[in-house]
This record gives sequence, structure tokens and C-alpha cells, in this order.
Amino acid sequence: NRRFVLNERPKGAPDANTLRLETVDIPKPGAGEMLLRTVYLSLDPYMRGRMSDAKSYATPVEIGGVMTGQVVAEVVESQLDGFAKGDYVLSGSGWQDYAISDGAQVLNLGRAPENPSWSLGILGMPGYTAYAGLLKLGEPKPGETVVVAAASGPVGATVGQIAKIKGCRVVGVAGGAEKCAHVVEALGFDACIDHKAEDFEAQLAAACPDGIDVYFENVGGRVLYGVLPLLNPFARMPVCGMVAWYNLTGAPEGPDHGPQILSTILRMKVKVQGFIIFDSFPIELYQEFSEAMTGWLKEGKVRYKEQVVEGLEAAPEAFGDLLAGRNFGKMVVKVG
Ligand code: NDP
Repeated sequence: NRRFVLNERPKGAPDANTLRLETVDIPKPGAGEMLLRTVYLSLDPYMRGRMSDAKSYATPVEIGGVMTGQVVAEVVESQLDGFAKGDYVLSGSGWQDYAISDGAQVLNLGRAPENPSWSLGILGMPGYTAYAGLLKLGEPKPGETVVVAAASGPVGATVGQIAKIKGCRVVGVAGGAEKCAHVVEALGFDACIDHKAEDFEAQLAAACPDGIDVYFENVGGRVLYGVLPLLNPFARMPVCGMVAWYNLTGAPEGPDHGPQILSTILRMKVKVQGFIIFDSFPIELYQEFSEAMTGWLKEGKVRYKEQVVEGLEAAPEAFGDLLAGRNFGKMVVKVG
């Protein structure tokens, strides 16, 4: 049973010393427990937060603790009602081959789910984040302009495609020509701008001739600064993430944008709302999302791209790639 534990808290980007691979015995389930074997491990930007002990919405992983993560696992042995050997489950087992579970916060996916890893992406937490954040906080109306960055990733790609379904003009932001081409051609966004382009700000302005009504904030940094002058009166800004800043150890380089951010919110009467997906919405919304997304996928109205990395041992490097934008699509590790 291999597992990655937190070796030390990273300063800046995680490196080779951040996580440590350990091998321990496969645990035995007791009464009221089951043994799970990880099939897919999800890699998500929030994991950078769990490596840090800065004040946040969730407790950090302890030094020596198994790194947090959602997995799709197979039940190997069960002494628990409602879970049988061979069932697939969605569980928070973390970065390890095997885990014991008492069934709390575990969703049974059944015997042979069609695309088991999708429960970690489009049909799970990132897809739900896009759905709830955009529709409940962004409140997009037909004809409005919606901008979202990390547009080829699971949250951004889904935000944009739902906004298209709702009749909006959708402009994505992504890193590089290949990702931008995918966002327009495969996902159907109206435009996609490369945030690494020298004239990014001018290109974004040209792609939003009627200004921006909804900015779904995934990244912060240069994208946010480029969006500010384009926001329309009464624009909405669901604040979902700031991945451009997750590895910062101090203030970002360049001028202090604080005054510009607040004065834009004031003058343009922008509605800014941060959210943490499983704390911010009523539980019934998840069911609504699940049904809507399953339908859109069946009808081909939403498309989904995954990047599958082979082997648990590859997870730390893949996680570094994710934070640096070297992923293309939802990143999952095929463990077993
Ligand atoms: P992605 O798979 O899209 O990965 C992150 C992407 O961010 C990278 O691929 C990269 O894409 C982009 N990125 C990284 N650095 C920068 C930068 N400096 N400027 C612009 N873009 C950058 O991630 P997810 O879809 O899983 O998550 C997207 C956001 O949503 C994250 O901020 C995450 O923390 C947040 N989130 C929040 C939740 C909540 O409850 N609030 C729940 C789930 C996710 P590119 O190469 O295109 O730049």
C-alpha cells in the first residue's frame, strides 16, 4: 500500500521535498468498515491550500498525514451495509492505493459506471462548481458577455459551455494557442484569448465589444487586471479561485491593484461573491446539477476533456504541472 504524505509545507511552488512516498501494510476492515482500492485520484488546485497552514476554510493536512484528495475506488472487501465487493465509489481517500472507510461521505457509483473518472470532474465537484457559481451567483442573461479563465480546465470549460447554453457571448482565457483553439473549436466559445500574449489586454477588449457582464474569477493576476476596465455597470463576479496566486509567498510583483479593484466594484456597482462549493449552496442544487449535466452530456451540448496520468508515483509532478498550466483538461491519475 503506497501513499503520499505531507513531508514539509512548501514555500512557493511544491517541490520534490513537499510529499514523501511511504509503503505500509494494506489495512484490514473491521465491523462497519470497508477496504477501498483507488482506481482514479483527482488532482485539483485546492490541494495547494491544504499543504499550507495559512488560515482557510478547511483544516490543512498535518505533517506526516496522507495528502487529501477525492478518488474513485473499488470496494475490495466490505462489512458495511449498502456497499458490496466490486462496487465503485466516490470517496475522499487521498493519495494512496488503499484506504479503510466507514462509508461516511462516500457515494456508491454502482457496479460498472460508464465513465467512472467523470465523477471527479464534469459530473462531480468541478462541474458542480461551474454550474452553481455561474447560475446562482453569475446570473447570466441571454445576450450578456461572460468571461472565464482557465477555460480549458474542468471548471472554466464547463462555465463557458453552460453560459453558451444560456444564450450568452462567451470569451475564454487560456494559456497558449493549442488550448485556445480547443476552447473555441471543440467547446464552442465565441473567442479565447491567450493570457501570455503581449497585447492580452487589447485582445480581450476587442473580444468584448459590449463590455463584460459576468466575470467568473478562476485565476486572479493579469487576467483580473485586464477584465476590470471592461466590467459593465451591475456586472457579477463569482470568485471561485485565484490559481495564479496560490504559490505566492508575498505580495505579487508590480503595482498595488487594490485601489483599482475596489473603485471598479464601487463605480460599476459590481456584485462580488466568493464561494466554497460544498458550503455555499443548498444540497438540493446538487441533484439539479446532476440531472442537467447528465442530459447536456447525452445531447452533446457539453463536451469534456481529461488528461490521464499513469501511476500514483506520477502524482506530485503532475500536480506541479497543474498549478503551472501544463495540464490540458481535467487532471486525473490512474492509480490501479
Ligand atoms: P484547471 O484544471 O483549469 O487548472 C488550473 C489552470 O489555471 C491551469 O491549467 C492554467 O490554465 C490556469 N492558470 C495557472 N496559472 C495561471 C495564471 N497565472 N494566469 C492565468 N491562468 C493560470 O483547474 P480547475 O478547473 O480544477 O479549477 C479552476 C479554479 O477553480 C481554480 O482556481 C480552483 O482553485 C477553483 N475551484 C474553486 C472551487 C470552489 O469551491 N471555490 C471548487 C473547484 C475549483 P492555462 O494554461 O489555460 O492558463
